[in-house]
Amino acid sequence: MRSEKLFKKAIKIFPGGVNSPVRFYQPYPRFIKYGKGQRIWDVDGNAYTDYVLAYGPLILGHGNKTIAKAIAKRSEEGTMFGAPTEEELKLGEIIARNANLDMLRFVNSGGEATYHALRLSRFVTKRKKILKVKGGYHGTHDFNYPGEFVKEIDFNDSQALKDELSSREYAAFIIEPIMGNVGVILPEQGYLQDVREYTEKFGTLYISDEVITGFRTKFGIYSDKYEPDLVTLGKIIGGGAPLAAYGGREEFMKNVRPAGEFRQAGTYAGNPLSVSAGLAAMKILQKKDYGKLNYLSNVAAGILEKSGVTVNMATGMLSMHFSDDKIRNYSQIDTRLYNDIWAKLFPYSLSSGIFIAPSPEETMFISFSHTLKDITRDMELISRRVEEIWKK
Ligand code: PMP
Repeated sequence: MRSEKLFKKAIKIFPGGVNSPVRFYQPYPRFIKYGKGQRIWDVDGNAYTDYVLAYGPLILGHGNKTIAKAIAKRSEEGTMFGAPTEEELKLGEIIARNANLDMLRFVNSGGEATYHALRLSRFVTKRKKILKVKGGYHGTHDFNYPGEFVKEIDFNDSQALKDELSSREYAAFIIEPIMGNVGVILPEQGYLQDVREYTEKFGTLYISDEVITGFRTKFGIYSDKYEPDLVTLGKIIGGGAPLAAYGGREEFMKNVRPAGEFRQAGTYAGNPLSVSAGLAAMKILQKKDYGKLNYLSNVAAGILEKSGVTVNMATGMLSMHFSDDKIRNYSQIDTRLYNDIWAKLFPYSLSSGIFIAPSPEETMFISFSHTLKDITRDMELISRRVEEIWKK
């Protein structure tokens, strides 16, 4: 097995053999050589239908020709300049218009976007504390973990939110509108409305982390009708290349240097290569029928539900919850049970040519490249296997 050989070398130079922890699984991860549409191939020649999609960016599948051409053209004409380009303006305008942002700043990763949005919230409010949701993930910086300045409350708990914010100590409440890093958990009716109301009332900025959901459930952001103060984007807007952004209301964004005094900069920010990929992707996505993606996601959810699990789903993203109760926050999740089930499900799915994330806490993603045939075959196999494991 070539993957095994490569992993033995990789483990000597990369911690755990990988460059992001979620990529590791026992006994060693398959090394991937090639991807086309909804499928990927490993270095040993095995094919998989891909429901990881690089953890969200690849809503158009792998190796999209139009995106590839745009990247190739850009690379021949110079990859970066440390100066503005017309393309970054075009992409910025498309994103601002559809995500309902007055202004935005491009950065390179989702974690960078949330980090700077949170720093900016501290700068403008002159408060230090950050409130977040238990199980919410915003990147690996210190604001993502409970500590001196960071506190967590349950998702969908309006009362806890109100109680915390009423101290008037919080610079920001950061929240994914649909939780996507503990499986999928949907906001209940009225919850995001409460988020808007209480943050406003107590002088806290409402930061909507749409790194996963932005341009996934529709061509825009999920939380636009709640009018968040700041929004973070990543993944899909880069068309498979590293690109992210934070943006929002002008009164906050105008503080960013050189317009104002808030320090934030980046050598690779708005990198022309990433912008070319993002612009190509957005032009294609703008014309796509998200109803089709919703239909495929619904079919997938319906099949998985036959196994007896609870499925939480939004357009293009879904996950199974191993509970008879409706899952409305992370505290309800029995992580040991989920991991036990996954330890049996994941190897089976790999050997069946289905690539799902090695962790049950990740979301299953569906792209415009997936077909009804893929979904039916793969979800039937998973559903039957889960039925054998679940409750045994
Ligand atoms: N926010 C959310 C909601 C995410 O899901 C992620 C990554 N999965 C991030 C932020 C961090 O993005 P990145 O990995 O690009 O730094």
